[in-house]
Amino acid sequence: MDLSLWQYQFRIIMLGDSTVGKSSLLKRYTEDAFLENINQTVGVDFYVHFLEVEPGVRIKLQFWDTAGQERFRSVTRSYYRNSVGGLLVFDVTNRASFDHVKDWHDEVCERVVPHRVMFTLLGHKSDCDADDHSERVISREEAEKLASRMGMPYVEASAKTGNNVQEAFDVLSRRIYDGLLSGEVELREGWDGVKCTTPQGLNAQREGAAGQPQTADGTKRKKKCCG
Ligand code: GDP
Repeated sequence: MDLSLWQYQFRIIMLGDSTVGKSSLLKRYTEDAFLENINQTVGVDFYVHFLEVEPGVRIKLQFWDTAGQERFRSVTRSYYRNSVGGLLVFDVTNRASFDHVKDWHDEVCERVVPHRVMFTLLGHKSDCDADDHSERVISREEAEKLASRMGMPYVEASAKTGNNVQEAFDVLSRRIYDGLLSGEVELREGWDGVKCTTPQGLNAQREGAAGQPQTADGTKRKKKCCG
């Protein structure tokens, strides 16, 4: 099955303090790679991944990464716009990053209508739990309590080893999809969460797919798909 012929497009934002490993998670998920010294990108970084959320239902995930803006608390409103999912990341070896999770969550909820964004809490760098170099300061229990208070699932992962990375993104994608089915998440015209169900829409994608570059906001595909 050609996953690039998608029926839904979800824009997902990466949230969390600088150095918790947001870019590394995306790199692991989309390219199955890990760089010890990952370069800081300039501008908003953008990744794409396709997945089949259930048999016959194909999703194009479009990820936005803050590219270091979070360091200065200067993440712009456009970063949040049109997102249907947010991965809230903290580093299990860094208590400040855990304490700031609530601030990141509040910031999104202030800037977008809350029911439109589905979240998952991710405790990152779980490889630091190994007996010989245990640096963990946030226990699984503590993180699970926070996730449950905020009404979202909790997953632990490591971009370094690859452990649970795919599962984390699967949980979030599945949550968005379930939100769509239940009506909690809405897809509106002009959003990046675009539904494309008609055979004409899929044909348009087929035509458009040949040699068409991805744009940062996915407009070319979106227009072809739903216009
Ligand atoms: P960002 O600023 O949140 O995008 O974080 P980066 O992806 O740039 O990662 C920050 C640092 O954490 C880098 O030095 C990475 O090599 C390191 N890092 C990223 N993921 C992991 C992981 O799973 N385990 C460990 N131990 N280090 C990681």
